[in-house]
Amino acid sequence: MTRPRAATLSPQRFAGETVLGRKRRARRMARVLTETHPDAHCELDFSNPLELAVATILSAQTTDVRVNQVTPELFRRYRSAADYAAADRAEMEALLRPTGFFRAKTNSLIRLGQELIERHDGQIPGKLDDLVKLPGIGRKTANVVLGNAFGVPGITVDTHFRRLTNRFGWVDEQDEVKIEFLVADLIEKRDWTMLSHRVIFHGRRVCHARTPACGACTLASMCPSYGAGPTEAAPAAKLLKGPRARDLAVAAGVDPDLVPAAAVPILEEDAAADAPASVPEEA
Ligand code: SF4
Repeated sequence: MTRPRAATLSPQRFAGETVLGRKRRARRMARVLTETHPDAHCELDFSNPLELAVATILSAQTTDVRVNQVTPELFRRYRSAADYAAADRAEMEALLRPTGFFRAKTNSLIRLGQELIERHDGQIPGKLDDLVKLPGIGRKTANVVLGNAFGVPGITVDTHFRRLTNRFGWVDEQDEVKIEFLVADLIEKRDWTMLSHRVIFHGRRVCHARTPACGACTLASMCPSYGAGPTEAAPAAKLLKGPRARDLAVAAGVDPDLVPAAAVPILEEDAAADAPASVPEEA
């Protein structure tokens, strides 16, 4: 692996930032994100490590909303690794069809069940090295499972996390594994899992891929990419999304009445536009 590149900050005031300065700024931004998104959480529905692993595999190339529509029936029919191992392929494909890549995902889930039976007594292992050897589970999925089902700190680098950490000037890097290691150097380990959720929430609600809401962003004073989207309050407030859009405006010092009432729900098609451009990790 070539050495990850440190971030290059274009605006004048961040140009001379030292490594220590970047770490301090990153931690300040992380604290502001904690206050900005108190509702941040894993948006996939699950009740045990197997369900979370399955839901995360299904989330490739689709939205969490779509996965959560499919998993209640899937989890009702397939309750254990043995159930997945013995699944009728056509039946499972029909269930998974709405999530896309349904043949590859069915293949991954059946093989996952088989491997869990053969090597792990039918249980999802709680170690990264074991998880990444399982069918359908790459480093990103493994970190989601570790962080949210086992309480082991993990950084989840998805499309939002990659975009935002580059905009934040924390990294100048597109490779997901390199980003994970660079951010691990900046942020305390105990905060890794929740930081991932908060950055992803910020990406879905404020710092959108096409037009970020810079003028209604709590990170504006610490972000070298401020100005990538509208900086005036009125147009920026119109870009805020989600059930807490008005609260987000207030937190950024913007009049909440500038947020259109209809802007509140995050539309699934908006989320789909931001969905990871990756195929299942090991299809
Ligand atoms: S200031 Fe703009 S680019 Fe920076 S985090 Fe906020 S919305 Fe994103």
